[in-house]
Amino acid sequence: MNGEGGYDRRDGTHPLRRPRDYRPDGQRRRRWSRPERAYRLTYRRRPFATILSTIGAVLTTSLIAVATSRVGSIYTDSTYNSSGWAVCSTPISWTTDMHNLPPEIASKVRPQVAQAFAAWGQAAGYTFVDGGEAPVAFDNAKSTVTPVADINRNIAIYFVPDADSDRITKTVVGFASPNLVYPGSKEIVGGYMAMSADYIASVNAARQYALILHEMGHALGLADSTDPGNVMYGQVDTRAGLANGDIEGLKAIEKVCQE
Ligand SMILES: [Zn+2]
Repeated sequence: MNGEGGYDRRDGTHPLRRPRDYRPDGQRRRRWSRPERAYRLTYRRRPFATILSTIGAVLTTSLIAVATSRVGSIYTDSTYNSSGWAVCSTPISWTTDMHNLPPEIASKVRPQVAQAFAAWGQAAGYTFVDGGEAPVAFDNAKSTVTPVADINRNIAIYFVPDADSDRITKTVVGFASPNLVYPGSKEIVGGYMAMSADYIASVNAARQYALILHEMGHALGLADSTDPGNVMYGQVDTRAGLANGDIEGLKAIEKVCQE
C-alpha cells in the first residue's frame, strides 16, 4: 500500500490478495479517499497556503497501482512520486499522543520511537528531535491524524484503540503517511503515524519496534516494499534492521534543504 495504506499485517495474508473492500459482516467498507481531500484543503491553509491538496487522488490511485509499478519501496505510481523530506540543519520534530497507551507501555514505547528515528535518520542524514507529547485529533470518518497545534516539519504519532478506527482490523495494525507535500519540489513537510494501541500493548518489544520502524518509513515517504527482507515489506513481523532497499529508497527521495 502507499503510506496511507500501511497495511501492516498481524497474519500472513498479503494485503493485495484479500478482498479489503468488504468487512467480515459483508458490509461494504468505506472508501477513505474522498474525505481526506476535503481535509487537506483546510488543514494548515495559512502557513502552507501554497501546498496543494492531492492526497485524495493519491490514495485512490495508489491502492490500484501498488502491485504493478513500484521500484523498491519508492513511490512510482502517484503524485507521491519521489516525494521526500529535506535534509536541513533544523531537525524534523516528532510528537506523540500516547494517552491511549497504559503508562507502563508508553514509557517503553517512547525510547523505541526515538531509536527508530535514529536508525532512519542515520540512513539518510536526517536529524529528528523529540517534540514531546502533543495531542492529536483523530477523525475516524476521514482516517486522519492531525496535531491540535500547528507544528512545522513534524511527524505526529498516535496510538489508536482498535474500537475507534475502521482502518484498524484483525489484520491491519497501522497506517501512516506524509500529509503535507509541496507539489513542485515534492518536499514533504508533514506526516503522521497511527498504530493500534491494542496491538502495541499486547505484543513484545520486538514487534512493537518493527511496527514503529515500518510506519515511520511511510511517514518519511516510503511505500511498502515487495521484498520480504526490507523493513518496508507490507507484512510487519519483527524486522529490526533497515535493509539496503530501505536505506537506498530513503536516500533516493531526500531533498535539498530550501531554508
Ligand atoms: Zn506498510
